[in-house]
Amino acid sequence: MINNPVTGNENQNNLATEFVSCPMCSSSRYKAVMTARDLIHHIPGTYNLVQCTDCELVFLNPRIPRDKISIAYPSDYAPWGKDPFSPLKRILTARVRRLVAAPCRKPLNNPLKQLKYLYDTFSYRSLPSRDAGTRLLDVGCGAGQYLLDLDDIGWNVEGLDVAPVTNEKVRSRGIRIHTGEPELMDNLGPYDIITAWHAMEHLWEPLKALERFRKWLRPGGFFIAAVPNFAGLPARIADENWCGIDVPRHLVQFTPSTLTGMLERAGFEVLNVHHKIFSGHTSGTIRLMAQAKNYAYPPSPYDRIIFRPIEIIIDIFLWLADSTHTFGILAQKKTDPYP
Ligand SMILES: [Zn+2]
Repeated sequence: MINNPVTGNENQNNLATEFVSCPMCSSSRYKAVMTARDLIHHIPGTYNLVQCTDCELVFLNPRIPRDKISIAYPSDYAPWGKDPFSPLKRILTARVRRLVAAPCRKPLNNPLKQLKYLYDTFSYRSLPSRDAGTRLLDVGCGAGQYLLDLDDIGWNVEGLDVAPVTNEKVRSRGIRIHTGEPELMDNLGPYDIITAWHAMEHLWEPLKALERFRKWLRPGGFFIAAVPNFAGLPARIADENWCGIDVPRHLVQFTPSTLTGMLERAGFEVLNVHHKIFSGHTSGTIRLMAQAKNYAYPPSPYDRIIFRPIEIIIDIFLWLADSTHTFGILAQKKTDPYP
C-alpha cells in the first residue's frame, strides 16, 4: 500500500498537488503504476498513475486541482479545434450514416446491421441505433461535429462541454449546448441516448457523472462511450509513451473491466464492449516513441502519408487480437426497482 507515492522533492515544480482517493470505490489504498510526462502539450512536471488495490481502477494521483486545470488545455487543444475530416471523407461518411441509421428491427444477420457494426469499428465515434430513439446528449461534444453529423440525418441532439462551443454551424442550427461539468449539473434530459466520445477519462468524478447520466436517461435508455484502452497491447508496449496516457488531462485510465465495473455501480447493464481501429493512435504513439528516443520523425502531414499503410496493418492485427488502442462500450439503464 502506498498512500502518497510521490512526495515534495521529486515533484516540486508540479502543478499536481491534489491527492485523491479512488474515483470508483473511494479506497485510499493504491500502488504506483507509472510516472509520465505531458508529451503532447508539454505542461511541465511529472505525473503519477496509481492503481487502486481494491477495485483495480488506474487513476492520476496527485492531479492538478480543478480550479487550475485550464492550464492543461491550451488554445490549440485538438477536440476544440476545427473538424479534422476532409470534405470528401465527410460526404462519404454521411452517405454511410444515412444508410446504417435507417430504422431497422430485423435480426443481426441483416446487411445493414453488419454495415453498422463495421462503421462502429472503423469510426472514431459510433452511430447509435435509431431503434433506441433519437433524443441524444453528447457529453464532451468539443467543436460539435458529431452533433452536426446526427442533426444532418434528423436526430434531436444536444451537447455538453466544459468549454463553450464556438462552431458557427452548430449555433446557426440552433443546437442546444450546455456548458459545465456533468457531475456538477442537474436536471437535464430526458434523453434516449447519452454518448461520451473520449470524455470519461477527463472527468473529475466519473462515477458521479455516470449516476447523473442514468438519471437523465429515459427508462431503458442507452449510454455509449469510447475511451483509451489501458489494457490494450499498445498501452503495454509503449508504456509512458503511449498516446492514450495524455497526462495531466486524462485523470482516469480505463480497461474494459474497470469501465464495466463503474457502469454497473452506477446502475447500468453493459451490453457490449467492442474494439475500435483507425483512431490515429498508432501513428501518434509511433511519433511519441520516436521523440522519446530522439529519432528523426517526418513532420505532419508527411508522417500520416508514410505511416498510414503501416498503421492500417498494425491496427487490423490489434483488432484481430481484441487489444486495440481504444474500446467502445454500450450500456443500458437498469430499471429502477423503486420508481
Ligand atoms: Zn477503487
